[in-house]
This record gives sequence, structure tokens and C-alpha cells, in this order.
Amino acid sequence: SVVMASEKEAALAAIPSDSPTIFDKIISREIPHHVVYEDDNVLAFRDIRPQGPIHILVIPKVKDGLTGLSKAEENHSTSWAAFSTIVINDGPQGCQAVYHIHVHVIGGRQMNWPPG
Ligand code: IMP
Repeated sequence: SVVMASEKEAALAAIPSDSPTIFDKIISREIPHHVVYEDDNVLAFRDIRPQGPIHILVIPKVKDGLTGLSKAEENHSTSWAAFSTIVINDGPQGCQAVYHIHVHVIGGRQMNWPPG
């Protein structure tokens, strides 16, 4: 696969769509990853390009058209709205590169505000 210099470049190159993403291969174990939490609804695993000592991605195991936060509705089984105080990259301008909704959990260092 193409190595992107930055997440911004990846986000500008990514075409928003409902097509399968790399995260489907992570869910199906086709590619190796480090799972930190899993239940019936969500999978949490370490980001391949960590932006801090801790960088975990949380994704729904069934995407169900939920490519991003802007597609979230109240009837989705996981209440993504509960994550609304956390930054979720959404769309090209929001530096989203993978179109399978996900929450970034980053910690272990001093954070800066505002983000990029
Ligand atoms: P986005 O910019 O919010 O879409 O974040 C996508 C994240 O997925 C980035 O932080 C990438 O580093 C991460 N990522 C992409 N491919 C993989 C992978 O194969 N394993 C783990 N993380 C990945």
C-alpha cells in the first residue's frame, strides 16, 4: 500500500465511500493487529502510527453504513453520540483517512489545543 507522509495527506487522498476498508481486514484477522478490548459490538486495537504513548482506535464490528460520525443515528446499536466530547475525525477536512467510523483514544503525554 502507499505510504502517506501524513494523516492529512491520507485524508485528502481518501475518497469518502461505503466501500470496505482496512478495518474490515482487522476485524476478520486478515492482517495482524494488537487488540486491547473486544466485545460483541466493538473492537479496540492499537493505531499503527501512534500519536502518543497510548493511541487506540475503537470501531464497531458491524459497520452498517456508518462510515463516519456524520452518518450516526439514534437507532445505531452503539451510542456514538456518547463519544461527542472526544474528537472524531470526520471527512476530508477533518483528516479522516479510513471510512469506517472510529474513535481515537490518545494519552500518555501532554495534549495541545486546538488540534491541527
Ligand atoms: P482517521 O484519520 O481518523 O481516518 O484515522 C485512521 C487511523 O487508522 C490512523 O490513525 C491510522 O494510523 C490508522 N490505521 C490505518 N491503517 C491501520 C492498520 O492497518 N492498523 C492500525 N491502524 C491503522
